[in-house]
Amino acid sequence: MSAARAAPLAAPEPAPAFYAAAAKIYPRETGGRFARLRRSAVLVLLGLFYGVAWLKWDGHQAVLFDLPARKFHVFGLTLWPQDFLYLALLLIIAALALFFFTALAGRLWCGYACPQTVWTELFIWIEQWTEGTRTQRIKLDRAPWSARKLLRKASKQLLWLALAAYTGFTFVGYFTPIRPLGGEILAHALGPWATFWILLYSLATYGNAGFLREQVCKYMCPYARFQSAMFDRDTLIISYDRARGEPRGARRRGSPARAQGLGDCIDCTLCVQVCPTGIDIRQGLQYECIACGACIDACDEVMDKMGSARGLIRYTTEHALCGGRTQLMRARMAVYAALLALASGVLLYAMFTRTPLILDVIRDRNALYREVHGDRIENAYTLRVINLDDRPHRYRLQVGGMPQLELVAPAGPIESAPGTVSTIAARLQAPQSAAAGIHPITLSLAAEDAPRIVVHEQARFIGPKS
Ligand code: SF4
Ligand code: SF4
Repeated sequence: MSAARAAPLAAPEPAPAFYAAAAKIYPRETGGRFARLRRSAVLVLLGLFYGVAWLKWDGHQAVLFDLPARKFHVFGLTLWPQDFLYLALLLIIAALALFFFTALAGRLWCGYACPQTVWTELFIWIEQWTEGTRTQRIKLDRAPWSARKLLRKASKQLLWLALAAYTGFTFVGYFTPIRPLGGEILAHALGPWATFWILLYSLATYGNAGFLREQVCKYMCPYARFQSAMFDRDTLIISYDRARGEPRGARRRGSPARAQGLGDCIDCTLCVQVCPTGIDIRQGLQYECIACGACIDACDEVMDKMGSARGLIRYTTEHALCGGRTQLMRARMAVYAALLALASGVLLYAMFTRTPLILDVIRDRNALYREVHGDRIENAYTLRVINLDDRPHRYRLQVGGMPQLELVAPAGPIESAPGTVSTIAARLQAPQSAAAGIHPITLSLAAEDAPRIVVHEQARFIGPKS
């Protein structure tokens, strides 16, 4: 037998695990300050989402992003593609507000306002209503299939599907008028695109809030990855007070912890059971923590029962945990606040001084000028008048900037329906004696019924060379 054959065979290396199935999380229901805050946020935000789509304003849908017509109606305001500045400013303000509040108090957005959190909370309420408490849900999942289990599971799925479908319908109702959309569904006359988008958003809601849940926060959300860049040692975060809690261990209610060589944590794991992302906050700040505050509520309840002070898990800062003083107003907060105030001020100013009228002046390219009646010079222009307002207007055109310049056409006011673009031929004349050379001129368009709506546009009047 060769030496090579005599050597013992090494056990093959186990293949690296690229994927480990996530254990299902059964969050325990909680009461308390932060649960009330989260429920209120869910009710207000979902109330707004489902309710605002049905509001009317001046005879049309109050909030409608009419993409085919390229018009956004936001209550009394109609925004056009030309108003992109407002959208850009709004996005900048949203980003700065996110930076400001994250630097101040951590992931407030994730815990209370993110659509993923809000819809997951709603889906969990349905789950609790149909399948019971955490313990009952775990038992039900482990139990063999029976009529009772089928009934509970089926009713949960049906309610989830109905809610997801209504959410998809409402979402599309912000882009297509919701009342006719509802009518089309009832009449089985829904178009293919509307069907596609409603199904897509229904499926996304059903999948994300019903099944993916914390996986979205852990693996899909980019914000979870970079939010720590906005944290510093004075940012309010939800933390376990290790110095007070350790060494953890079970003890009788009311018995002094220190006398038994223990900290305040009784290792009941309730803070883990209520966590929607299934983490143990006692292991320190983790990127999976969405700052929902459920562990604070759970632990406060335990501390109350044990006769200890609340706040073993609490909103605090790294500085405070190390015995230092927290500085809420610091340089980065001042910079975020100043930028936020500036961007908000610019947006408000731009909105209040917005003129719902655009005038484009295009010179006739076929001829520099024409001689008319032998002693007059005429220039021709094409005017594009865009009425951005929600009501019709009569506009009067005036010209200036050059002596003896006369408007020949249009002779009367320009009528313009709301949200329309009108193309008008305009002719200006001046005597030969005054017209020689190139003259900068101004065309002004003013609404007869609204003195505040007036725009000025620069152009050139060209005459023969002097
Ligand atoms: S809930 Fe409080 S006492 Fe219970 S394990 Fe968590 S930190 Fe410890
Ligand atoms: S650790 Fe606490 S605050 Fe963070 S997600 Fe879990 S329950 Fe919410």
